[in-house]
Amino acid sequence: MINLNHNSIKIFEKIILFFSNILNYFMDQNRLRILVYHNVEKKDFKKLYNQFKDLSENWKFITPKQFENHINKKKVLKGRNLLVTFDDGFKSNFYVEKKILNRLGIKAIFFVPSDFIKISSERESQSFIKENILDHVKPRNFKKLRNMSVKDLKMLIKRGHSIGCHTKTHANLAQIKSTFKLKKEIIESSKNLEKLLKINLKHFAFSYGNYKSMSKKSLNIAHKKYDFVYSCLRGNNFYNYKNKLIKRDTVYLDSSNDLLKIFLSGFIDLKYFIQLKRINNNIIK
Ligand SMILES: [Zn+2]
Repeated sequence: MINLNHNSIKIFEKIILFFSNILNYFMDQNRLRILVYHNVEKKDFKKLYNQFKDLSENWKFITPKQFENHINKKKVLKGRNLLVTFDDGFKSNFYVEKKILNRLGIKAIFFVPSDFIKISSERESQSFIKENILDHVKPRNFKKLRNMSVKDLKMLIKRGHSIGCHTKTHANLAQIKSTFKLKKEIIESSKNLEKLLKINLKHFAFSYGNYKSMSKKSLNIAHKKYDFVYSCLRGNNFYNYKNKLIKRDTVYLDSSNDLLKIFLSGFIDLKYFIQLKRINNNIIK
């Protein structure tokens, strides 16, 4: 068996990137991709800053408003466009905004679970993270993890960012059968956020966001309530129309920029094609 050490993975990624770049050359150049980050550890701040700088050479960072206008066909974009999003409402996202996004002039959408951002005690914040957000691996900086507060979110809005709903308790919606409970997670959560933040919410991201976390019922409740519904299935959103599930690229900060470039080239999108087709067929227009 081949033992893939760090260097051979790097070389492997370079080879795949080479082929995806060739393929890229022949593909449609109109792109609209969305990056999704979660908690960002302090040690990765520099890497994230450099990643954005690197990406800005070939991609244009767009604002949430530009994204809305493109999907609504009010003002259609051109070329390669990137939208930045953050899921889960970790306090680190607030510092990323302050230290990185603000410096680079990037405007993002922050998706937060409504119950999480209401927490004001450290102990409660930690137990919410442990019980509801982290699935199995505790990161090394677990003890430092906290939620963003309502005040933090208000500051983000003031600086031109958008807030989206990420359910009430970060539940896996495919596992909830009761319509009442689903509406609590999808609709009541948003009403809560709207009241706290004094804004209208148009964006919703499924927790987990993979194929198995989106049932037909939850998809339809979400699409009825929100203009923009996000998954974590990879793909190009340039030709999306309203009521179609939005695709996003999860970024792993512990892997290389080459891997991210492979994702952005669309090389891996085929893997999600059938899943997306099935999901979009489940949404009642
Ligand atoms: Zn999440």
